[in-house]
Amino acid sequence: MTDLQTLILDRIRDIPDYPKPGVIFKDITPLLADHEAFAAVVEELAGLREVDKIAGIEARGFILAAPVALRAGAGFVPVRKKGKLPYETLEASYDLEYGSASIEVHRDAFRPGDRVLIVDDVLATGGTARAAVELLRRAGADVAGVAVLMELSFLRGRERLAGVGLHSLVTV
Ligand code: AMP
Repeated sequence: MTDLQTLILDRIRDIPDYPKPGVIFKDITPLLADHEAFAAVVEELAGLREVDKIAGIEARGFILAAPVALRAGAGFVPVRKKGKLPYETLEASYDLEYGSASIEVHRDAFRPGDRVLIVDDVLATGGTARAAVELLRRAGADVAGVAVLMELSFLRGRERLAGVGLHSLVTV
């Protein structure tokens, strides 16, 4: 266990049965409230890949991706839930436990071949990250990888990102 992993694990708390019974929600707000831990996480994520842009997934992904983009000298692109972006969008749908959801990105968010790292807080089933990879590729991005603070390995999301390059700072 590295110092960074200890710093992260000590500051992510489990909230049982949120937002619904049976789910253990990983609450990252104690980590965000701690300057040393937040700065260390941003530093680590910013050093992973040489990229042109960092794409953050709504909403907790934004909180991580924006400072990572600044630190990495890259642009920031929001990947939002359907209906939130003001300009023309591309859309990708994916299955949730019950029903489905859609995410969108502005159709002109990337120049062709832009190298892009996708950032989110938690990788669970991997459905959201997989949809984001496909969406960004359709938007002309060269997806350099997916980076998350925490991977829930028992949900096997990594398998859905085969060939993409997943980097998780901690795995539980
Ligand atoms: P999934 O598509 O199943 O990988 O879910 C990933 C998205 O849902 C991420 O944007 C996470 O922020 C959120 N998420 C899923 N499960 C959890 C959890 N147990 N704790 C916190 N966030 C979660």
